Amino acid sequence: MRNAYRRRRVQTPPKYNNFKPSGVPRKLLSIITLTVDEYEAIRLADYEGMQHQEASEEMHISRPTFTRLIDKAHQKISIALTEGKELIIEGGNVDFDFNLYRCHDCGDLNQTDADELITACPDCGSVNLEDYAGHHRMRFGKKHHP
Ligand SMILES: [Zn+2]
Repeated sequence: MRNAYRRRRVQTPPKYNNFKPSGVPRKLLSIITLTVDEYEAIRLADYEGMQHQEASEEMHISRPTFTRLIDKAHQKISIALTEGKELIIEGGNVDFDFNLYRCHDCGDLNQTDADELITACPDCGSVNLEDYAGHHRMRFGKKHHP
C-alpha cells in the first residue's frame, strides 16, 4: 500500500541537532522544533543556493510544497533568533539517502548508504558509535521497505 503522504527525500541526517542561545538560563529557554525536511529545504536553497524548482525535485516534492516548507522554516528560525529560543532539529516524514556515523573514540565521521548498518568504526574498531539517522528513526519508526 502506498502512503498518500509522500516521504521527503533528505540527503543525510543533520550533523547538528541542537542550538542554544548562550547566557540564557535553561529554565527560561523554550524550544522551537525545525523538522528534518524543513532543515533540508534551508540547506538546499539557502546553503547550496539552489532554485526552489531544483530543490523541490531533489526532495521529491512539488515546487509549491517546497516553497511552503521553506517559508515555514524561515519563520521558525526568525522566531528562534529574535526571541532567543532553543532550536532543535528533529522529526518530519523523511527518507535519507545516506546515513552518518560518528565514532566517539577516534572522532571519525563515516557516511554510509541509508540502509547499511555499521556496528563498529571502520577506522579504530570501536563500537561507541553515534547513528545520526537513528535519532530520527527512534522517534518516527523505521524506514519503510516495499
Ligand atoms: Zn573510531
